[in-house]
Amino acid sequence: MSLAEGKGQVPAGLELYLKEKRLSTFTQWPFVSDCSCTADRMAEAGFIHCPIENASDVARCFICFKELEGWEPDDDPMEEHHKHSPNCAFLALQKDICDLTVEEFMELRKERMKNLIEKEVKHAITEMEKYANLIRGKIDQLRS
Ligand SMILES: [Zn+2]
Repeated sequence: MSLAEGKGQVPAGLELYLKEKRLSTFTQWPFVSDCSCTADRMAEAGFIHCPIENASDVARCFICFKELEGWEPDDDPMEEHHKHSPNCAFLALQKDICDLTVEEFMELRKERMKNLIEKEVKHAITEMEKYANLIRGKIDQLRS
């Protein structure tokens, strides 16, 4: 049994598993031709484009959530992905996502959820530390 009955058809919420959907996020991608990191190769390597105000070339893996920016025309998206996130479950796939068995697909989803939770917990800890430092500063002010 395979994930998708027809190519391009996946249940709602799982669209990013399709390369075409990831590719559609690269409408403002600065590297268009004559380079290694074209939108097509970025999407192939698992990335989606998520530009922010001061960084128009931020790309994030939809499975490990690793964000990379500062792309150079000669960068190979798959190589960069390997270099910065060697344990990514997407990179470990040896076949097209539409050919995964349900078990393999569920394993990939589990890894994705684990990564998402880790990222959110790290963010929450950072925010809490910032807040704790602010409060410490105020306590010190009251003491002096
Ligand atoms: Zn990844």
